[in-house]
Amino acid sequence: MRTALYPGSFDPITNGHLDILKRALKLFDHIILAIAANEEKEPTFSLEERLQFVEENVYGLENVSVEAFDCLLVEYARKKEAIALVRGLRAVSDFEYEFQMAQMNRHMDAEIETIFLMPNEKYFFTSSHLLKLVHKYGGEGPALVPTNVLRALKASYKASTKSD
Ligand code: ADP
Repeated sequence: MRTALYPGSFDPITNGHLDILKRALKLFDHIILAIAANEEKEPTFSLEERLQFVEENVYGLENVSVEAFDCLLVEYARKKEAIALVRGLRAVSDFEYEFQMAQMNRHMDAEIETIFLMPNEKYFFTSSHLLKLVHKYGGEGPALVPTNVLRALKASYKASTKSD
């Protein structure tokens, strides 16, 4: 059984994340999509909301489980007997940070490989952060997030304009 972790903040999950997940499923028997509690990043959506957004979108996918973690990533990977960490690379701008993270994780556990996958080019510019910003200012466009996330983004935009 070849298990890989796909870790991230998923704040919220986007179609780019889902694209990477589907590609990773072709390479491994089991993917654990691991949501970092990441309180230091002050996420927009609570851990429960982020879990729910993902769970509703992987429902029925047998080889995927969704979990939250709040510890050192390599420790978590060892505990889950994962042989690899999956990360997505969009543009060159992702590379520097991802390269540092991968090297640091290898430094801590040389047995766990980090593998990078590229999404479909239509998601090269999709980021959770940018989408939240666009929605905050009432922006629209072809959906780059699953429907449950789109609903939540629209609702949070409406709530923020009401309170202004
Ligand atoms: P983190 O806070 O760990 O960077 P993210 O949820 O932002 O968590 O991203 C998790 C992983 O998914 C990262 O490797 C990131 O580069 C990747 N990712 C994010 N958006 C996309 C996208 N549109 N296409 C491909 N990979 C992506």
